[in-house]
Amino acid sequence: MLTKTNPFLFYVDGEVAGAPGLKGSCCKACGLTVLLQMAACPKCGSRELDAVCIGQRAKLGHAAEVFHSADGFEAPYFIGMIETEQGPRTFAPIAAAPGTKLTPGMALRFQLLEREGGSVGFAYAPVEGST
Ligand SMILES: [Zn+2]
Repeated sequence: MLTKTNPFLFYVDGEVAGAPGLKGSCCKACGLTVLLQMAACPKCGSRELDAVCIGQRAKLGHAAEVFHSADGFEAPYFIGMIETEQGPRTFAPIAAAPGTKLTPGMALRFQLLEREGGSVGFAYAPVEGST
């Protein structure tokens, strides 16, 4: 089993239907989909939530290039606000070559990234030909 950099944030292949992707919850009562595994629906308060895998595909909101290394990421790298196809938004690392022009609205896909030492993290990679 791979060690995940943040086991609360995402699924690897085979964990749930649709994996790999971000961890999410879907409310059985009102249908709201949110990030992370929630004990109760933030909208209606229902405790009937399904664990779902979301964010296999996403759209880029704003992105910024980061020029210092942190948490295993070699600078420069990109961090961006992404909007998952299911709706929830979050900040995520963007896997793009330094100097890449990242434009709001560009299509991204979830990607697992193996790190040194055998842990696995994730990033969003631009989908070829989407710009
Ligand atoms: Zn609900």
